[in-house]
Amino acid sequence: MPDTIAKHLKGGEFIIRPSEYNALFIPEDFNEEQLMIKDTVRSFVNQEVMPYTDRIEKLEEGLIPSILEKFAELGFLGTHMPESLGGGDLDYITNTLIGDEIGPSGSFTVTYNAQTGIGMLPILYYGTEEQKNKYLPKMITGELKASYCLTEPTSGSDALAAKSTAVLNDAGTHYILNGQKMWITNAGFADVFTVFAQVSGNNQPKEQSGFSAFILEKGMAGFTLGAEEKKLGIKGSSTRQIYMENVQVPVGNLLGEVGKGHLIAFNVLNIGRFKLGASCLGGAKKLVDQSVEYAVEREQFQQPIANFGAIQYKLAEQAIRSFVTETAVYRTAQLIQNAEIQYKSQGMEFGQSKLEAAKEYALECSIIKIVGSETLDYVVDETVQIYGGMGYSEEGHIARAYRDSRINRIFEGTNEINRLVILNTVMRLAMKGQLDLMTPGMAVQNELMNGVAPNETFSGKYATEQQTLSNFKKVLIMLLGTAAQEAMSGKIDLKEEQEILMNLSDVIIEIFNVEGVLMRVMKIAEQYNSKPVEIYDAILKTLIHDSAARILKTGTDIVASFVAEALQPAFISGLRKFTKYPLQNIKENRRRIAAYMIAEKNYPF
Ligand SMILES: Cc1cc2nc3c(=O)[nH]c(=O)nc-3n(C[C@H](O)[C@H](O)[C@H](O)COP(=O)(O)OP(=O)(O)OC[C@H]3O[C@@H](n4cnc5c(N)ncnc54)[C@H](O)[C@@H]3O)c2cc1C
Repeated sequence: MPDTIAKHLKGGEFIIRPSEYNALFIPEDFNEEQLMIKDTVRSFVNQEVMPYTDRIEKLEEGLIPSILEKFAELGFLGTHMPESLGGGDLDYITNTLIGDEIGPSGSFTVTYNAQTGIGMLPILYYGTEEQKNKYLPKMITGELKASYCLTEPTSGSDALAAKSTAVLNDAGTHYILNGQKMWITNAGFADVFTVFAQVSGNNQPKEQSGFSAFILEKGMAGFTLGAEEKKLGIKGSSTRQIYMENVQVPVGNLLGEVGKGHLIAFNVLNIGRFKLGASCLGGAKKLVDQSVEYAVEREQFQQPIANFGAIQYKLAEQAIRSFVTETAVYRTAQLIQNAEIQYKSQGMEFGQSKLEAAKEYALECSIIKIVGSETLDYVVDETVQIYGGMGYSEEGHIARAYRDSRINRIFEGTNEINRLVILNTVMRLAMKGQLDLMTPGMAVQNELMNGVAPNETFSGKYATEQQTLSNFKKVLIMLLGTAAQEAMSGKIDLKEEQEILMNLSDVIIEIFNVEGVLMRVMKIAEQYNSKPVEIYDAILKTLIHDSAARILKTGTDIVASFVAEALQPAFISGLRKFTKYPLQNIKENRRRIAAYMIAEKNYPF
């Protein structure tokens, strides 16, 4: 693999380049101010959200908006907005920490994320000065509530197939909107709606038509809401359909340019996905706390269930996956933050710099969405299991958390769509020459065919893990190269081979996770050695052990399905070679992790 170590990588570049572990931001690095903010948000969740859960779940009128307003009074709806509009302009890592801490609050998490993410960002990114000044200050104070209306009954994942229409009137003063939107979060109490529609009609020159965005306001004639949806979870989050019947929208409410709505829709979703992953992380860590507490308290067979190996396995695995997610979330937050700072220093405007930074790391945002939502689903499922019958009871919060978790794999782009985004992004970067897969591809081929290993000299305590990570990347390069070759020779049409795309995305996700955790543990061992480094080592080694097995399985699936039979033995032997990692006593590793959690009685990392 190329051996130049980068301090800060470009989007997707981690696939081919290592980065400097010392430069990685890890949660252990939080400063005093960030820890104070964390405490403030945690207190808010415990005092102003959780006690009202039952009433929120019943969608008690005005309750969730009033909680949003209280959060706004503390300044938390504008921490990502410029001071000139009344925001706090906090750095991206601190904003991520806020989303992480809000994570356990179920329906309120969704309300908050919709307001501050997909609700406010379209206007911040694409609004005119007039639009920004009109809406954003009041969204920051909570006076205005926001929603984002992309999905329609017949267009969900295929969002650009929306049928809603916008036709410019003869006077050229208003667009006339007709259509229907579905699954709109915050719709029940929102004042402002970003609505996507197809501009067409006689008054519109062809070059000024197509998918576009508009700002609609509550109370516009012809604009109505459906009833609240009856949902599996997040029952306290308002979700409704909206209907537009000849709604007259002033031309001044066009957001961005006609025909460029797809840019707004997708670029806003990048950060929406990241925010979702960060909140899933907070939700997962809170559930780990609850799992440990319960396992210590609950006795069966005259002893706490925490004594049982089966339960310790679950606790440790919950912690490992949360740790992996936490590392990935803050790693991505730092990448986005660095890019924002760089763009701003080049003179880019506030919103534009945020937009470009999120665009740069679209691939990583998709990873965070997938990893966050799948970790939360795993963790909450095992929490129910650890609680046994009490996990199935509506008396505590576990059953609700179980139901609330499931939506995260569906909205903000399903996890299947996000896996496609990851692969499409890699292929696009490679085609544009921004991600050189050829050079490492040739090196891997040389190593496999001629036994010429590249000059990799890893030293120190984590040399084996560094080598293993480098080898995992070789697997990916090998598989990506094969897929690309088969596609270029016309043997397969990659678009029609989604199984291979899903598999390749999974390998990319494994690599991002292992690399992040390796860097975090190396940094802790060096800079935070008063911490129990042996526990962090156990996390790292267990992760790599499991990851190697998963990559071998995924890689074998690809080779068995897509590689010509004559070449299969060479590929399988390459796979085996590059997924080798010394055997670990992972039972002991997990027991050690669980013992630490039990002693600390929480998610202790
Ligand atoms: C509670 C809730 C809140 C929501 N909030 C909002 C909101 O505020 N604003 C908004 O605009 N939307 C919102 N949505 C809509 C949400 O974003 C969509 O539900 C989601 O994008 C999936 O679309 P769909 O439901 O139509 O499923 P479909 O697109 O019909 O997908 C069904 C299945 O097919 C798979 N699939 C679809 N296309 C492909 C493909 N090309 N390749 C492989 N698999 C594919 C999907 O992954 C999924 O598994 C919300 C939805 C819910 C349930």
